[in-house]
Order: sequence, then structure tokens, then C-alpha cells
Amino acid sequence: MASDPTSLTSPSAPAEWSVALLRALDWRRFQDLVTALLVEAGYEVQAGSTFSDGSRILAAHWKRKLAARLFVAGWHRLRAGPSDIEQFSKAISSNSGRRAVFITPGGFRSHSRSMAESQHIELVDGEQFLRSLEGVPLEEQRHLLRVLTAGEFAVPSCPQCEAKMVPWESHLAAAYEGLLPRFYKKPGTEAENVRCLTLHLRRRAHVQFLRPVYAKDLVVEGRAVGNFNVAGRVTIQRGACLSGLVSARSINVEVGGLLDGEAVILSENELSPNLPRSLSQLWVCAHGTGCKIVLDFDRNAR
Ligand SMILES: [Zn+2]
Repeated sequence: MASDPTSLTSPSAPAEWSVALLRALDWRRFQDLVTALLVEAGYEVQAGSTFSDGSRILAAHWKRKLAARLFVAGWHRLRAGPSDIEQFSKAISSNSGRRAVFITPGGFRSHSRSMAESQHIELVDGEQFLRSLEGVPLEEQRHLLRVLTAGEFAVPSCPQCEAKMVPWESHLAAAYEGLLPRFYKKPGTEAENVRCLTLHLRRRAHVQFLRPVYAKDLVVEGRAVGNFNVAGRVTIQRGACLSGLVSARSINVEVGGLLDGEAVILSENELSPNLPRSLSQLWVCAHGTGCKIVLDFDRNAR
């Protein structure tokens, strides 16, 4: 297991631009890349509104006149939906006739295109953006690649203070601040992301979790199926059953309880769960106590 959790998310510097690289890039650096291409094309660029997820609106001026507004998604690893297009449309309601462009290398979900058409917004996905990038002189492409992939280029910056964020599980104190315990009492399916202090599954709760669960502790009296990332202790009580992927600092299966699946026990110094890292990585800002930002890149199922 890697001792440095960030090493999993910052592969070595890539040799060329690709859609995969655009998606992996820190949102802050991707915005720098968009700005650089606009400047290369002769525009003057001003940063406008910034959203809590790192998304930002840029204003592109041509010969001192506002020519276009661009929405650059902060969660660009993922696909944008109609509600994202609508958010941009509302934010630029005074754009009157100027170009409006929504950029996200993650691409767009169905219905986004019709929404964009009705709002006169152009959509740019990873493939289209890459073609624009390939249109700039090779030397400039290489220069941008060198500058923007130096260091931890795949680790997102905090949208508030712009310090590099840290993986959720490596900064537990900040991660659980302000969270509440959560209780399930009835059978059902949980399709939302769950992150909470202690997760309690009462005796009658037979719950299937469709998305990864992040909890400080987990107490199972009923039945649960899913991918559980538990920072502390898992307790499986008599008559209870926990199935799926479980990582925790300790797992206590009481007599008559059942753990059915793959379990990973974490040591005190090794809080990074040894589970496949997917888009579901949560990031927190570890820069002082001023920022309470948690970025969630697992929005594919929106
Ligand atoms: Zn911050």
C-alpha cells in the first residue's frame, strides 16, 4: 500500500496532452490552460464569479469589448447535466447576444445539449477542447504541458484558499468536522453519497448502498451491502450481516454476526483504504481551519 496517498493521484508527468489528462488536471490548472489558449488567440481574460466547487466564469474581451463568457467547470472529470447549464445561463443573464461557452472535459449528459441550445450556450467537451489545444503552435503546447503538469497536477486546489487539498481519508479530523451521525431503521436502497460520523444500521434496516460510504464508525445491527470506508471501528452485532468491500481501522464481528466480503484493516499510520480509487475520491482542504471545503468528484450518477 502506498504510504503517501497523494502519490496515487499524481502520476508522473505525461508526455503529451490527452483528454484523460485534461480530466485528471487540477481544476485550477485547467482554468489556467483555458486562459492561456484565449490569450494565445488574442483575447484579454478576466476571472469572474467563482463557485464553491471551483467552477469559474471567465470573461473574454476582444479589443477591449466583452466578446464571450465562458463557464469552466471545476469538477471537469465528470459529465455536466442540464442543471449545470442552467446555472451558467442564470449567472450570465446580462450577456445579451455575446457568446456563451460551457467547457468541461468530462463531457455532457443527455438533455444538456437541448438545454444549451435553448439558452444559446455552446458546449465544449474534452475532445473539442483538445482539438483547440492542438491548434496552437507545438512549442506553446509543450510549454503549457511542462508548466501545468509540474508537481501534483492531479490533486485539486481548494476553491476557497487555492491550497492543494488532501484525500478525505488522510485528513480525518477535518473530514468529520461538522458531520452528524446517521441512522437507518427500515429496509431500502440508498442511491445518494453517504458521509457521516457514526453510521448506525438498526435491526430492521436492510440497506443496499449504491455509492461508496464514508463514515467515522459503523454499527450494524441489520444488514448492509456496499463499499464502506470507515476511519475507525466497524461493529457487526449478533444477527447482523455486512457484505461488500469494507475498509476500517478495526472490525469487530460479535458472535452470530457475519462479515461477508472483502475486508481491509488499516493500521494507525495507514489511513488510506486499500480499495480501488475511482472518481469517488473526496478531497478536503487541510489549510488551517478557515476552509471547510469538501470536494466530491463522484457526480457521475447525478
Ligand atoms: Zn482552503
